[in-house]
Amino acid sequence: MSNNSTIIIVGASFAGLKTAWDLRHKLSSDHRILVFSNKPTTTIRASFPRVVFEDVKLEDITIDLAKNFEGTGIEFICDPLVSVDQENDVIVTAAGRYEYDFLVLATGARHAYDELPGSREFALSVCDPARIMETKEALLNFTGGDVYGGVGAGYTPCDGPPMEMLMDLDHRLRMLGLRDKANLHYFTDKGRLLPPGGPQVWERLECLFREREIHVHLNVDLVRLDSTLLHFKDGATKPYDLCLLIPPYRGIHALEGSGLTDARGFVPVSPQTMRADKSTRYNVYAVGDAIANPGPKQGHLALIQAGVAAAHLAWRITGEGTVPAYLPEFKCVMDLGGGHGLYMYSQWLSDGSVVEIQSGPEPYASKIRFEEMLCELRGDIGDLHLKMIK
Ligand SMILES: Cc1cc2nc3c(=O)[nH]c(=O)nc-3n(C[C@H](O)[C@H](O)[C@H](O)COP(=O)(O)OP(=O)(O)OC[C@H]3O[C@@H](n4cnc5c(N)ncnc54)[C@H](O)[C@@H]3O)c2cc1C
Repeated sequence: MSNNSTIIIVGASFAGLKTAWDLRHKLSSDHRILVFSNKPTTTIRASFPRVVFEDVKLEDITIDLAKNFEGTGIEFICDPLVSVDQENDVIVTAAGRYEYDFLVLATGARHAYDELPGSREFALSVCDPARIMETKEALLNFTGGDVYGGVGAGYTPCDGPPMEMLMDLDHRLRMLGLRDKANLHYFTDKGRLLPPGGPQVWERLECLFREREIHVHLNVDLVRLDSTLLHFKDGATKPYDLCLLIPPYRGIHALEGSGLTDARGFVPVSPQTMRADKSTRYNVYAVGDAIANPGPKQGHLALIQAGVAAAHLAWRITGEGTVPAYLPEFKCVMDLGGGHGLYMYSQWLSDGSVVEIQSGPEPYASKIRFEEMLCELRGDIGDLHLKMIK
């Protein structure tokens, strides 16, 4: 390997930011690190419940990427990826072509509204920065009726955000004395509430939903919405006033002809290294929501995967250092409303036995502190995500 590698990272959210910083710390300045994004900013979507129900402004949770990387030795280029030419080690962007020695894809998931008819027109988004203010307005003006929150059929491995919004809405309606005017429902195509959490998490959530009188519908596949009805795969329909939805996930269009993806457009990777299984020249990696491997799509896992990919790349380039084992763990702080949160940690995904569940103001404050530190540290969080709450 030459003394001056060029490493291109595409995507500048949780996965891209951490990969870039970890590599910058591990490699000398002879090695170029370029980060590309299709947007000049990145928004911390985990804070959306606070944008909707509190006074948090979108700009408070948005990082200006050019400013973020100024003087860091990491070059930032705002220019969307259009395709990957694996054979020539080149990415094609809207503005040009860039050669790489190593490529890291941290491009997240696309919200495939087209896979679920009516989801763009009739549902409120809980995950799209361009639509979250519309969701806020609808929820703050809601005074009664049937609210459904959940995930659409056809692969949406991110069940938590609609749950949080329902918990916050439940709290708000109780404070306003309107709770008896509303029926709140949670629906999912999965058989459990947050399956990756394991049995103790499932039990705690079932209890919480019962206490809050939020009806749970498991194993239901939402396949279509019109302006008044939700249509499920088994032919059932439900009338609704508001639907809070995460649409099906797919990989980004730019990876379609790359030869790197599975049928849904995600990139299968080796869990030991995060190197793409279909990388013909063995030099393409993928991390975060962009990967095809089983498991939930969570920011926490995106950060762990970024740590593994950066360590493996640095070891390949310098012959030094070690690569941590990838042991996916479930970690989530769910807003409960009223400044309280529910912290759930479990090693169920990696056959570990540690489970921690804690509710109250501390988990909520800790999540806010983590997000503030992510911005203050310009995304250079080291292992902070592993220590949050613990
Ligand atoms: C409402 C909500 C709440 C959540 N809460 C939590 C939580 O509490 N805890 C948790 O762990 N996770 C949470 N998540 C999940 C978490 O946000 C995602 O798992 C995480 O953002 C994934 O990070 P990523 O970097 O892989 O992808 P993304 O965050 O999706 O970032 C993808 C990046 O790629 C860029 N990009 C896309 N296409 C192109 C292109 N063609 N060219 C160049 N750049 C491109 C994007 O601009 C972006 O910078 C939540 C998600 C939502 C929606």
